[in-house]
Amino acid sequence: MQDGSERERARLTALLESLPSAAALFRNDGHAVAVNTRAAAMFVVDPVAPLVAQHWNVMLQPFGAPLLDSIRFARTGQRPETLLLPFGREGRQAEVRVSVFDLDLFLVVATDVTAREMERLSATRAQRELRAILDLTPSSVRVADVAGRIHRTNDIAAREHEDRDANTVRVLWELDAPHDVVNNRPLAFLDAPAMRALAGQVVRRQLLEVRRRDGRRVIEAFAAPMRGDDGKVVGVLLLDRDVTDREQLESELREREGQERALRAQVSQDEQELERLVEERSRALLALQEEQVRERRLSAVGQLAAGVMHDVNNALNPIMAAAYLLRHHAESPDAVRDYADRIRKAAEIGAATASRVGRFIRQEPVHPGGDVEVDLSVLADEVLDLTEPMRLQRSSESREVRIVRQFVDGAVSRGLPGEIREALLNLVQNAIDAMPDGGALSVRTGVEDRDVYIAVRDTGVGMSADVRERAFEPFFTTKGSKGSGLGLAEVYGIVRRHRGTATISSVLGRGTEVTLRFPRQKPVAAEPPPEAPASASPQRILVVEDHDDGREFLRRILQGDGHAVVAVASCADARDALGTSAEVPFDLMLTDVGLPDGNGWDLVRSTKAAFPQLRVGVITGWEPTMGTERGDGAEFVLRKPLRAPELKAHIAGSRTPTQITE
Ligand code: ADP
Ligand code: MG
Repeated sequence: MQDGSERERARLTALLESLPSAAALFRNDGHAVAVNTRAAAMFVVDPVAPLVAQHWNVMLQPFGAPLLDSIRFARTGQRPETLLLPFGREGRQAEVRVSVFDLDLFLVVATDVTAREMERLSATRAQRELRAILDLTPSSVRVADVAGRIHRTNDIAAREHEDRDANTVRVLWELDAPHDVVNNRPLAFLDAPAMRALAGQVVRRQLLEVRRRDGRRVIEAFAAPMRGDDGKVVGVLLLDRDVTDREQLESELREREGQERALRAQVSQDEQELERLVEERSRALLALQEEQVRERRLSAVGQLAAGVMHDVNNALNPIMAAAYLLRHHAESPDAVRDYADRIRKAAEIGAATASRVGRFIRQEPVHPGGDVEVDLSVLADEVLDLTEPMRLQRSSESREVRIVRQFVDGAVSRGLPGEIREALLNLVQNAIDAMPDGGALSVRTGVEDRDVYIAVRDTGVGMSADVRERAFEPFFTTKGSKGSGLGLAEVYGIVRRHRGTATISSVLGRGTEVTLRFPRQKPVAAEPPPEAPASASPQRILVVEDHDDGREFLRRILQGDGHAVVAVASCADARDALGTSAEVPFDLMLTDVGLPDGNGWDLVRSTKAAFPQLRVGVITGWEPTMGTERGDGAEFVLRKPLRAPELKAHIAGSRTPTQITE
């Protein structure tokens, strides 16, 4: 082609313009022949300089060295080549093709493919991401087209069936042989998730049991239609998740829960059984305890009876002997007096025992009015003085019993001074007994909030737990024939009568302290004792006593004092003797309590009601109870055995009414 052929150049330019890309035609010597308009935008074209003056070396500079090399190669090898080359600064890309025309000319066509390349890149990236997602997802994923052909599966899906390629949803359904878990029936092909999705539904979490290479599995299936731009279904996405383990776990859990429930039921049943057993045992234990208590009570009663029997026999023994001897020496007045004395002494010993036991038994509270103010400190002082001879007798130089007195003012209670004195006497005696080798005997009194107390302490032998437990029992003694075992029993009865308590604290080999506590009494001015009418003048006396000897002795004693006596043996006879006229023929009635036709106290009540001015005395072998003493209006109560001097004093009225005789 000739340089000057303008016409030819114009023709070539028009040809290049018809191309949809940038195009430039060069001569072999490198100078441009023709370029189109698009080339002006991509190549370096000087619009002013003539084309023939422009060289491809410069013009194609934006595509860099690779293109220049390629052009050289193309010109020699004459093989057209398409290159993808970056150009410009903004990362643009162009597809450049160099084609040799004849030996003289070659054509460079460049198309800007930046947009296409970017799209291709992002498509590849999306492809790669999809792959990664599919490979990573723990579910099996399949994509099928509208004809049901599966054209994409991830690894998990691919491994589900090894022997046959599940390449269509139909084959997949056949291989899976799905079973609807919820409705428990085989799943028809048209109901398969893929088919429902192809019909336009979205399937979310359908629980199916399917056949897989490793046996029956439970899966959760999901399926969704994919739609084209026009909204038509173009394919489906299928996804399923193997939940066999979870299902198994759940069912195991359910089973475990069931077992646990059963276990709990069992436990509660066991508990009930245990409760029943415990109840049964406690009942048995209670029964046993009751039995033990009863046994202890019975044995205590037995002990009491045995002790009384022993002492009564001991008392009766000299009386029997004396009575026998009396009979044989009746002529000798001296002998008679001597034996009478012995009989009295023996009887007195017996009576003393009875009286001490009585003080144990008699635990009714002291009747208000029958008591007086008692200052424990004064009383303790008296008792220590009283026991001084005994203490001196026991003491020698080597074993002296020292006395320590710690008394306070105001340790005042109310009660019967005689009884409390007796109780203290017993404690002091025990303390001295406990110190055969000497020691210290401390007596303290004290005042507490609502109580006053007196404590007797020794540094003697002390008590074992057993002894301490039984010490208050009547007739319990560790002193053999020297002890009566009645001391602490008496203390116990007396304290109880005074609404108090007695406690022992003792250490074997170290000593003992016995504390008596009484309700505290605020000191009040002592009442003067009521004036007793003194009258020893002969009286008219009605004696009511069913015991023949007792009645006869009483009559004789009273007659001996110059009284006029009528003696009867029953309530009925007594009422006859009393008569009905207001003018009662007696000054005094003396009655026994246990009468054949009634109770002496009833007689007292009715007599007092009819003849209030008549004085009444009651004689009883029982412990008089404070309640009836007063309420039934007797002026005095005497206990058997009767002591003549006491009886005389009461008849004379020199003793205060209702005072208990000791
Ligand atoms: P008795 O003194 O006649 O034995 P008690 O009833 O007074 O009867 O006492 C019963 C028993 O309690 C005593 O035999 C003795 O064993 C024990 N006992 C009482 N007081 C003391 C004491 N202070 N120290 C040691 N033992 C005592
Ligand atoms: Mg004693």
